[in-house]
Amino acid sequence: MSVPEADDVRRVTVIGAGTMGHGIAQVSAVAGLETTIVDVEEEVLENAVEKIEGSLGQMGVEDTDAVLDRIETTTDRRAGLADADVMIEAVPENLDLKEEVFSDADDVMPEEAVLATNTSTLPITEIAEATDRPESVVGMHFSNPVQLMPIVEVIRGEETSDRIFEFAERFAERLEKTPVLVEKDVPGFVLNRINYAFWSEALRRVDEGEQEPKAIDASVRRLGFPMGPFEILDFSGLDMFLLAAREMRDHGVSVNVPDVLEELVDAGKHGMKTGEGFYEYPEPGEYSRVSIPRERRFEFNPLYMMASATNEAAWLIDNDVTTREDIDTAMQIGMNWPRGLLEFADEYGIDRIVETLEELHERTGWDQYEPHPMLERMVEDGRLGLKAGEGFYDHEFESETFDTITYERRDFAAIITLNRPSKLNAMDETSWLGLRAALEHAAEDDDVRATIIRGAGNTFSAGDDIAEMQGWETADEGSTYFDEVALPTIETLRAHPKPTIALVDGIATGAGCEMVLLCDLGVAADGSRFGQPEATIGAIPPAWLTYGITTASKKEIMELAMTGDLLSASEAADIGLVNYAVDDGQAEDVARELARSTTAAAPQSIETIKDTWVGMENELFDAWLAYAVSELTALIQTEEGRHGLAAFLEDDTPRWER
Ligand code: NAD
Repeated sequence: MSVPEADDVRRVTVIGAGTMGHGIAQVSAVAGLETTIVDVEEEVLENAVEKIEGSLGQMGVEDTDAVLDRIETTTDRRAGLADADVMIEAVPENLDLKEEVFSDADDVMPEEAVLATNTSTLPITEIAEATDRPESVVGMHFSNPVQLMPIVEVIRGEETSDRIFEFAERFAERLEKTPVLVEKDVPGFVLNRINYAFWSEALRRVDEGEQEPKAIDASVRRLGFPMGPFEILDFSGLDMFLLAAREMRDHGVSVNVPDVLEELVDAGKHGMKTGEGFYEYPEPGEYSRVSIPRERRFEFNPLYMMASATNEAAWLIDNDVTTREDIDTAMQIGMNWPRGLLEFADEYGIDRIVETLEELHERTGWDQYEPHPMLERMVEDGRLGLKAGEGFYDHEFESETFDTITYERRDFAAIITLNRPSKLNAMDETSWLGLRAALEHAAEDDDVRATIIRGAGNTFSAGDDIAEMQGWETADEGSTYFDEVALPTIETLRAHPKPTIALVDGIATGAGCEMVLLCDLGVAADGSRFGQPEATIGAIPPAWLTYGITTASKKEIMELAMTGDLLSASEAADIGLVNYAVDDGQAEDVARELARSTTAAAPQSIETIKDTWVGMENELFDAWLAYAVSELTALIQTEEGRHGLAAFLEDDTPRWER
């Protein structure tokens, strides 16, 4: 049998002129192919041609008449198929009906013809059994609306020949679509399986009353998705999704259909098309963008949805159904994701994906959450994603140590970690010098677009190393330390030419809190604490008293400086010390998202923004910073200072506390 080359195809027959059929016929005629549309009634066919005409106009297709001239219609299926090179079947999702169509096609179509089905849920292999040429049958799963959606899943049935499978791939390209190759006839193919896995965790949260759709939609949108899961479900029809989920379940896929979905569909709330689903719409069929409150975007951690979808992706890859690249193409092109699923998985870290799956499995007992062995192997092999330079993909990665400071470049971000956890990451001379070297290293690397500063263990930094300070015997020693060690590092941090982001998970006190203040942006995990308790041990916080003015009010500055009280993460966000306080283990993710957001700005613009800010601060505060630092070095040498530092180190209460 000789299969035509995709470029040699002349005549295509589309069976079914409904939602999908008329769209497929349109892209076929636009691609220059003689196109016949078959349906059971003339009226449906007339309607379909009218819709095509309207759509061509809307899309600004030139020479509409020539496109329409290439379209013929008929209610005589066998006649319509008789001399076609390719059939694309798009009749309702009913196996008997599809078998009838394929049996006719088998009877009348030329020997070398290609028989494709647009089924969403039925096995290609079963449909092919209706013919005596199952090797010529292939799945071509278009997405709705066909005219606009640039993706086609090309599915190999058990008997589909290589030539036909390759033909379908090329033919999809000829129709100006991007093919995603599905090498095995698995229920749900690739898109529906991953969509189900991605959305199911969102649905479960709502089903169990843990979350509201708006909070989840806001959280997913924050990653750059044009719509959240509930918006998409409403848009594409809850009934369709329920059908697809049930079909997958009935074909042996581990699928949990949430009650909330059944209830909405039973109540006739199918989404936008009925005027109500998870949200309400002005009229049935009239779409209006749902107002999703941006301020709720940190209420849910999208990692849970990503972990579930990644588990499904691992199954698909491990079973040779498709490739990581095709999965990522499918999600980016087919679902408008800002990046591919497996790119996200690498960003979150495969270890965290596995831990999250374990947590979900423990919580629900659902099989779908049992971590796939492929992911566990990746963790064992250290292929953890961005943080290891290798995960599903290879990434730019560099790791360096500057004494107590570790430096990593993960793709476009430098991650600087204050790494003295046994001393609560207290900043001794070595640490200040290491931090300066790490910052300079990041500054010199043009590929670094943002720098994140964090602490190891459950601390950001408890500030200067008091034991080291206590060792100074003269004020001169203190002056030298500030002039040559701490202050030049502070200057390097302030003048760093890239956005600096403080990622706080734990204690940030004293110089630790001042470093957060001096970063451009900040994120704090719930449970973090911020404070400037220097005066409680007879010292003062020089940067807080000066640069702090650009962030906090006098009352806030004085309260922290004079009481030694600690602020919670949300209080720190309220006074502007960090941008966001987030829970659910998301601080690291939000810091990374912030880093990525800053890459929207041109590097030179960032530098100028920072120069302006630093210049302004210098003008305002230089003299007073110098004054405060020299007073600090003197204070430490006084009787009060010596007593305070000693009391701190001995865990004792200084005598002035009442
Ligand atoms: P539809 O109901 O809108 O259209 C089906 C058309 O087939 C109707 O016009 C009907 O009159 C016609 N028809 C029925 N019996 C026929 C026959 N014996 N011969 C010729 N025509 C016949 O359905 P649809 O949404 O276009 O779906 C068609 C196929 O595409 C289904 O397999 C579906 O699973 C699949 N699909 C649908 C979507 C979607 O979003 N709607 C997306 C991808 C794939």
